[in-house]
Amino acid sequence: MSPDSLDRLRAAVRDVPDFPQPGILFKDITPVLADPALLRAAIDGMAETFANERVDKVVGIDARGFIFGALLADRLGAGFVPVRKKGKLPWRTRGLDYQLEYGSNGIEMHVDALAPGERVVLADDLLATGGTAGAAVRLIEEAQAELLGAAFFIELAFLQGRDRLAERAPVHALLTY
Ligand code: AMP
Repeated sequence: MSPDSLDRLRAAVRDVPDFPQPGILFKDITPVLADPALLRAAIDGMAETFANERVDKVVGIDARGFIFGALLADRLGAGFVPVRKKGKLPWRTRGLDYQLEYGSNGIEMHVDALAPGERVVLADDLLATGGTAGAAVRLIEEAQAELLGAAFFIELAFLQGRDRLAERAPVHALLTY
């Protein structure tokens, strides 16, 4: 991906201070989604790492990970699997509760979403503390799939989420802050 394209993507991400709560600088990716050239560039960039690999499934995390994940799956010729917030999936699930800075969250995946040995890429819009992605990695491991890597559009490096994931899967991010 050219430095020029990366600059254009970076310029399009909108910083929204104090959303959804005071002290959080929210990275709003909707301007990237709304622009055809930028959207394509973002998915191209995320797909680059896996271009020469056989990928069976992309697992995307609720909710913005569905957007990036589904497009990435299509680009890689893979299927798509949603990891959803607790209580949303209709079929039998495997789930995990994990701690946030304040309180906890639960995510779930269908029990038959991944077959043992399937080659999987995890996708989300943004890596912050890595709590969410770490829980999704655990579900992928429980399904005995082979995790090729985790792909993020944005990484907030100062929160060190990468350290949480790195020993379990290679971490790739297009834009780092
Ligand atoms: P974490 O579990 O801390 O890595 O948080 C990652 C999840 O929260 C991702 O699904 C992001 O969409 C969302 N998120 C966390 N921090 C931000 C932020 N500053 N801007 C936008 N989304 C965020």
